[in-house]
Amino acid sequence: MMNGAQYVESLKKLKPRIFYRGVRLDDPYGHPALAPHVRTAAATYDLAAGGQHDEIMTATSNLDGAKISRFTHLFWSVDDLIRKIAMLRLIGRETGTCFQRCVGLDAINALWSVTYDVDKAKGTEYHRRFRTFLARLQREDLMSAGAMTDPKGDRSLAPWQQADPDLYVHIVLRRPDGVVIRGAKTHITGAANSHEIFVMPTLGLPPEGADYAVACAVPIDAPGLSLVFGRQSNDERKEEAGTIDCGTEWGVVGGESTLIFEDVFVPNERVFMAGEGEFAGSLVDRFSAWHRANYGGCKAGNADVLLGATALLAEIHGTIKNSIVRDKLTEIVHLVETNFAGAIGSSALGKRLPAGNWLVDPLLANTVKQNVTRFVYQVGRLTHDIAGGLLSTLPSDADFQSSEVGGLLEKYFAGKEGFSTVDKRKLCRYIEGMTSVSTLVEALHGAGSPQAQRIVMLRQADLPEKTRQAKKVIGLGKDRK
Ligand code: SF4
Ligand code: FE
Repeated sequence: MMNGAQYVESLKKLKPRIFYRGVRLDDPYGHPALAPHVRTAAATYDLAAGGQHDEIMTATSNLDGAKISRFTHLFWSVDDLIRKIAMLRLIGRETGTCFQRCVGLDAINALWSVTYDVDKAKGTEYHRRFRTFLARLQREDLMSAGAMTDPKGDRSLAPWQQADPDLYVHIVLRRPDGVVIRGAKTHITGAANSHEIFVMPTLGLPPEGADYAVACAVPIDAPGLSLVFGRQSNDERKEEAGTIDCGTEWGVVGGESTLIFEDVFVPNERVFMAGEGEFAGSLVDRFSAWHRANYGGCKAGNADVLLGATALLAEIHGTIKNSIVRDKLTEIVHLVETNFAGAIGSSALGKRLPAGNWLVDPLLANTVKQNVTRFVYQVGRLTHDIAGGLLSTLPSDADFQSSEVGGLLEKYFAGKEGFSTVDKRKLCRYIEGMTSVSTLVEALHGAGSPQAQRIVMLRQADLPEKTRQAKKVIGLGKDRK
C-alpha cells in the first residue's frame, strides 16, 4: 500500500490534460485549486498505511489474500459493508470534507458483479478482464474515479435521439483490439487526482442504444481525454495560501471535473461492457445503492467536525449554556445520527450477489441519500443560526493584519476570554465552506438527485405487497357474499 507522500509522487509521473479557468495546468497537483483535494485523498492513503486503523482502513483481498486498502476491496460480507461506512465516517471526521475515493470503490464493486452476470448470460469474458484489472489496482493501490453522469442534452430524448449523439458517452468505433469512445462525463468527483477512470453507462439501454452501453477503465492521461476542473463557491480564496480566509488545508467538496473523451481508444483488456445495454440498468442501480448509503457515513463524519466547530463558536460567543442553543445542537445530533443509522442498517441488511460481493439494502440506502438531500441543508441552517451573521460579513484576513484597522478589528471581534479572534475566524471560515452552495448542492445531487432516490424507494417499497397485507389485516373482502 502507498502512503500519502507516495500517492502524490505517483501522480506526478502522470501527464493528464487538466484545464482550469481557461488554462491548461502544467503542474495540476500543485495548483492551489487542486492541491487541497490532493491532500485530502493523500490523507486516505496515510490513514490506511499508518497502521492505527487497520481493521477499518485495510482488508484482505479475496483475489490473492494480500493486505490491501479498503478503497480497492470488494464487499465480501455484511461486515465489509459496515466497516466501509465506519471508514467513511472516520475519514470524514479526520478531514472534515469529501475525500473522493468512494466513487471508484463502488464502481469496482458494481463492475465486479455486473461483468459476472453478463458473462454468465452471454459467454463474454468481461469478468476475467475485470478481475485482472482489479488485481493490478489492488496491488499498486491506485486511486480510481467513477464516471457515470453524462451531460444528457435534451432530457426528453434518449441518448441516440439527441441532435448531437455525443451528449452521452458512446462507442464510435469497434476494432479487433478494442473500442473508441466519444462523449463527456460531468461532475466527476476526484477524477483530476485519480490514476484511473471507470467509465460507466448512466441508464439502462434497449438494443438501439447498444453503443451507449459502454463500461471501461481509462488512465487519467489517456490520449484524447481532457479534464476541466470545476469552480466552487469562494474558490479564489484557495489562492490566498497561508491566510485564514483560505480555509483548512483540505478541499471543500470533492474537486469535481468535466471529462471530455475525444475518440479515446480503449484496449480490450480494459473494456468491461460494450453493447450489453440490458445489464446497464443493474450496473447503475447497484452502483447507486452502494454510493447512496455512503452519504450516511461521510456526511456524518463531516458533521462531527461541523458540530464541534459550531459548539466551539457558541462557546466563544458565550451562548453554549443557553438551552435554546443546546437544543439546536441536539437537533444536529439527531439528524446526523438518524442518517448514520440508515447507512449501517442498509449495510446490515445487505444481500449476496451472484458474483460473491454483497449489496446494501437498496430501499434503506436510497432513503439515506434522500434524507441527506434535506438534512445537510437543515444542519447548515442550524449552524448558521448558532454562528450568527458573522459567517457572511466577517472582514478579510488582510484587514485583521492591517496596521491601521487590524488592532481595532481584534478589539471589536473579541469573544469569550481565553479565545483568540484567530480561532473565531477559523471556525467561521470552516462553517462557511462546509455549508456553502457547492457543499449543499453536492449533498443534494451527488450520488443522484432527490427524484432518482424516490423512484427507487417507491419501487422497492412494493406497494402491491403492502396493499395485500392491508387487505389481510383489515379483513377486506371477507364480508362479501
Ligand atoms: Fe465519498 Fe462522500 Fe465524497 Fe461521495 S461525497 S466521494 S461518498 S466522501
Ligand atoms: Fe459525492
